[in-house]
Amino acid sequence: MKKSEEVKIKYCPKCRTPNLDMYAASITGAYYCRKCGYIGTVVIEKSFNKPKSSSPPQHE
Ligand SMILES: [Zn+2]
Repeated sequence: MKKSEEVKIKYCPKCRTPNLDMYAASITGAYYCRKCGYIGTVVIEKSFNKPKSSSPPQHE
């Protein structure tokens, strides 16, 4: 049984929004930002402890 689930969220280093998609990640390992169009492997990664009965905030 796990104590708490850790969720990692990746942020765009340019506009700092957590809207990164995988961009051909299996080939390039890069991420794509839907907001500013940034594509690259350098991202800001932050870890959160996920509450048990609610999902992490997501931007649609
Ligand atoms: Zn961006």
